[in-house]
Amino acid sequence: MTVVGTFEDARSQAAGLVGLVPTMGFLHEGHLSHVERARQECDTVLVSLFVNPLQFDVPEDLDRYPRDPERDVRLVTEAGADLLFAPEQAVMYPQPPLTRVRVPLLEEEMEGAHRPGHFEGVATVVTKLLGGLQPDRAYFGRKDAQQLAVIRRLVYDLSLPVQIVGGPTVREEDGLALSSRNVFLGPEERERALGLFRGLMAAADAVEQGRRDADALEGLVLDETRDIDVEYVTLADADLAARLDRLDRPAFLAVAARVGSTRLIDNLAVDFDQSGNPVVDRGRRLTGPSILYGEG
Ligand code: AMP
Repeated sequence: MTVVGTFEDARSQAAGLVGLVPTMGFLHEGHLSHVERARQECDTVLVSLFVNPLQFDVPEDLDRYPRDPERDVRLVTEAGADLLFAPEQAVMYPQPPLTRVRVPLLEEEMEGAHRPGHFEGVATVVTKLLGGLQPDRAYFGRKDAQQLAVIRRLVYDLSLPVQIVGGPTVREEDGLALSSRNVFLGPEERERALGLFRGLMAAADAVEQGRRDADALEGLVLDETRDIDVEYVTLADADLAARLDRLDRPAFLAVAARVGSTRLIDNLAVDFDQSGNPVVDRGRRLTGPSILYGEG
């Protein structure tokens, strides 16, 4: 595994079909699931590690974002990646970028409404990574469902020659979606955070039993999250990230909440098979504690 710091070095050392896994570091099994998939599908697996200031709407959140580059290098090596692109600020943004990428319609609700400028920061850095690194495939998590919709749409609209691959949400043994931010949760907060998962699973059961009304599905999540500060629960169209009244097409039921000072998001993705039956993605559960804690 080689660590590179410039776009030129990354491109010159990547050969064959190149798969990119963009991350902000402080890696966990969610990130590594994308590395594993890329390793199966590509000749060169390139992981990027950059805490992108453009996408933080609150400066204190950027300052306190967890970082451990040495541990990340070890995890990426063990996961079998070939290259780690870890650029300095001055490489990514030698000048503040005057060009910004926006996908306005998809940024109106949910994360877009609660985190002004967030998706502009994400879309701009992802476009830059795709342009500078020129991967054939790029792997993202469905945990960030609205982000995935934004990225798919910008790639489509700008005819970027890359295939976007979305992977399932990796969860702790008890169901909590893995997030670098989980390390901030105290034991009591962690217990309350589990309401997000319980609510989404109650909604999953209801969907499988035939319930389609958005208010009812959102209500099931609200019922389980009464002791945390919920920002939104929204059933949204999977492609347009716009609220639906009824679950009648591929969608995700998204929730965001603050538990203490930590902001968490999670969602349940629902697709439909050829007979019109719902296919609910409950994510993948770990069988032991995450490497976020422990000796990792
Ligand atoms: P981040 O480092 O949080 O910006 O995330 C980098 C990538 O990992 C994004 O595509 C995320 O959607 C994805 N990701 C984050 N958490 C998870 C998870 N629990 N399961 C799967 N993918 C995830």
